Amino acid sequence: MPVTRISRFGLVNAYLVEEDDGLTLIDTMLPRSADAILKAAGGRKIARIALTHAHGDHIGSLDALAEQLPGVEVLISSRDARLLAKDKTLGPEERDGKLRGGYPGAKTRPTREVAAGERVGSLEVVASPGHTPGHVAFLDTRDGTLYCGDAYSTLGGVATTAKVNPRFPLPAAATWHRPTALESAKALRALDPSRLAPGHGKVVDSPAREMDAAIARGAG
Ligand SMILES: [Zn+2]
Repeated sequence: MPVTRISRFGLVNAYLVEEDDGLTLIDTMLPRSADAILKAAGGRKIARIALTHAHGDHIGSLDALAEQLPGVEVLISSRDARLLAKDKTLGPEERDGKLRGGYPGAKTRPTREVAAGERVGSLEVVASPGHTPGHVAFLDTRDGTLYCGDAYSTLGGVATTAKVNPRFPLPAAATWHRPTALESAKALRALDPSRLAPGHGKVVDSPAREMDAAIARGAG
């Protein structure tokens, strides 16, 4: 499958994934990105929007898109759905970490809350908490492309969010719980993805070696 990456300034990404019934949009980037996303779709139907997590640079154009795409499905994990609704309370088992980064919320409510192992078209939902409590990645079961949200970034080199990458500190600085993020990075590596398609940075083919190095740095 071709990977369709939409990027603002090379910094923030969204992706379009082809399915039989239309496109799945993964993440919505910053506010005022709706036009760029619709242009990239080129008139093809966006059937659903799947969100990796509730940070503002991933949900920023959700409301604008939902307005322009009547009937679009909106999917997010049940945990991050609370953040999308601006509920920033942490459960007792979550208080080891601290919510960091922007959670502006959205008016749009999810039409479906997804959990690990469920399918979104050809994509399998993979739990990858740590960056946010309910972060999920999406694995394209047809070709092994892993849409990893902010579990890894590739800007300034492949990195986990378990440790600040001095060349692009933002994702780790906005991470809720770094030890959990490291465990999730390992779990995603174990999927042996053919391609890593992150929220920030370029798509990396055959990323195994670089993911291993990122995990080693994250644990250091
Ligand atoms: Zn994030």
